[in-house]
Amino acid sequence: MDSQLRAQVVFHLTGRRGHDEAQPATLVGLRPALMAGYRDLESLRYDFPVILVHGDGDFAQPLSDVVDAALRAVATPGVSGESLRRRALKIEREIRQLAARGTRGTLLQLWDKAVAALGASADEAFARDAGRARESLAIDGEVAHCDASLPARFVRHAWRAVQQQKARAARERIEQLVIRLENILRADFARSEAALAAPVLQASFGSAHHAMFDFQAMSQLLSRGGSRGGLDPPRRRRIEDVLAVLKAQRFFPTPGSAGDAAAGRGAHEFEFDSVDAALEAFRRRLPQVAQLLKALQVAELEVAGDYAAVVHDAIFAAFDGGSIGAQDLEFFPDYFVCLAGDGAGEHGRLTEALSSGVPLKVLVQVTDLVEEGMLGAGRFAFGLRASRLASATMSLDDVFVLQSAASNLLQVRDRIERGLRYAGPALFSVYAPPDGGVLPGYLQAAAAMQSRAFPVFTYDPAAGPDLAARFSLENNPQLGVDWPIERFRYADQELQTVTEEVAFTFADFAMCDPRHARHFELAPRAAWSEGMIPARAWLADPPRDPGTAVPFVLAVDDADLLCRLVVDERLMRVAQQCREAWHRLQELGGVNDSRTAQLLERERKAWEEAHRREAAAAPAPVAAQPVVAAAPVAEAEPARNPDEPYIETIRCSSCNECTQVNPRMFAYDGNKQAYIADLKAGTFRQLVEAAESCQLSIIHPGKPWDSSEPGLEELLERAQPFV
Ligand code: SF4
Repeated sequence: MDSQLRAQVVFHLTGRRGHDEAQPATLVGLRPALMAGYRDLESLRYDFPVILVHGDGDFAQPLSDVVDAALRAVATPGVSGESLRRRALKIEREIRQLAARGTRGTLLQLWDKAVAALGASADEAFARDAGRARESLAIDGEVAHCDASLPARFVRHAWRAVQQQKARAARERIEQLVIRLENILRADFARSEAALAAPVLQASFGSAHHAMFDFQAMSQLLSRGGSRGGLDPPRRRRIEDVLAVLKAQRFFPTPGSAGDAAAGRGAHEFEFDSVDAALEAFRRRLPQVAQLLKALQVAELEVAGDYAAVVHDAIFAAFDGGSIGAQDLEFFPDYFVCLAGDGAGEHGRLTEALSSGVPLKVLVQVTDLVEEGMLGAGRFAFGLRASRLASATMSLDDVFVLQSAASNLLQVRDRIERGLRYAGPALFSVYAPPDGGVLPGYLQAAAAMQSRAFPVFTYDPAAGPDLAARFSLENNPQLGVDWPIERFRYADQELQTVTEEVAFTFADFAMCDPRHARHFELAPRAAWSEGMIPARAWLADPPRDPGTAVPFVLAVDDADLLCRLVVDERLMRVAQQCREAWHRLQELGGVNDSRTAQLLERERKAWEEAHRREAAAAPAPVAAQPVVAAAPVAEAEPARNPDEPYIETIRCSSCNECTQVNPRMFAYDGNKQAYIADLKAGTFRQLVEAAESCQLSIIHPGKPWDSSEPGLEELLERAQPFV
């Protein structure tokens, strides 16, 4: 063993750096090799920033989709609309950069800022096109970038949108009942002696008619009809009481009215920053909830004329906080709790609260996935609290659970809405790294998801009776494997292009955080040897003798030069824990299920045994039979024309990469698997780019169909690995 490998082994096993012990460990300027292409993130069109839309409909939309829709509406197709399109895209890029720098505002506000920053005042044509595109923006709302504040802004906005719809329906129900109950009282009054008194009759006519009638005579005439029945006093009192409750309720205030806050009768608050505060408010309001529920039921019976005092009086007299069921609570606003900073100190209380049946919608913002363990500096544990919180909560059975990285929130927005509408408690655990990290927040969050450090999953108790219906691992890349694998192209020392498959492991994710620098050691190219094995291979099959090989991850420096980082054994152990946690989730999601595999293995052995016994018991052949052509066992794959592009649709993992490149060229079939929907809707370049971004390498671009497309030579070369 050479001395360099020996030093690497010592570092791997002990964390000691030998000759460089005095040098502080650093990862400055390094990033995982697979992230080399995302150095200038803000120049790319991707999911962020998002617009948190004002009003009804989709509550969040990516800025790029909103701009595309505006351009489809205003820019003429072809060359004549090109300058407008280019200018609008320039404004979009400027907005992306403003948002990345922390500028807050609505889309229209940031649009104006971007236009001003791009010097529209000195360019009339630019200002005109910017104005036309602005007028075509179909929506407005706060612009939100993928930073540490995103989980709270995104989920809170979704929660408010859902509550507004709920409140609208509730107010309508209450207002209808108020109108109909008042009509009952008004009709009763119209039949009463008081209503026939001369002054009241006079007041009911317009002033223009006052001189025309003798209201005294009219009163006497009408009163001669005698008694007209009317409401009995208990019913009148009941209706008046119910009206008072409906009008004074504080759960669904009219928009714009804050109630009588000064007198302590303001609209109820439903947003909290601690579980205890939310529970306390819920308990305090329980009598009011019971009172309003009772009033609604009595009102509905009254307007239908179905209230029977002999039956209902006793029932409603006994109705109190203890009579309220989960279904009753669906009518009321849910309690939103936002726990920042991993909800430190709240986790124990959280589990208790979520199992209490109170309709809490809790957002836990996870900021740190690797925690220093009990054994001191350098010893850490994988997600003791944060990333296991969501998995642990699933055991409560009737709690909706969603776990996602912030970078993926847009993709799971439908599921977030489902959780917010779920009639019961819900937990949203979202990872967003603190601002100011080495990588942009979006990349760091995406790295957590890619590396299985923080996989996406949903548990929806309302989706069906069993785990298969309730649990979903959708959105995680390459579900069936331990670590997602991507093609990585680089130039070797002889400047030859090399393409190799590189996995994105937990160690690659840890490398994005400079706090973990002590677990990596840079290996100069001269120190590369056979004894260095990729982290993926090491994790799949650790060497029997740990002193013979060391794991490494690939990184690039600021100049995009490739380097290897040796990973210490402690971090690799955490990577193993991370993989085990991923395996558990896979099993829950029915992927690589160990019980199914065991069953299949048992069945296969039983079948082979039966087959062997049958063969042994069969009589020996009497004479040779003429040989006839064997029937084909399976139909041969249809021969493909290598020039024709195609997707191996059956293997598609629905990752959206290709549909994002061109949603008209690529579409999903009924199984949500991609196929080429319209080849001519895009360019050969887009086809090649989609092939390169497809993590499963199942897009085969074939040959270009338009020989006039620029850059074909380079594109054909890029398409070569996918033939
Ligand atoms: S075909 Fe498209 S959607 Fe399917 S895995 Fe590849 S890139 Fe993703």
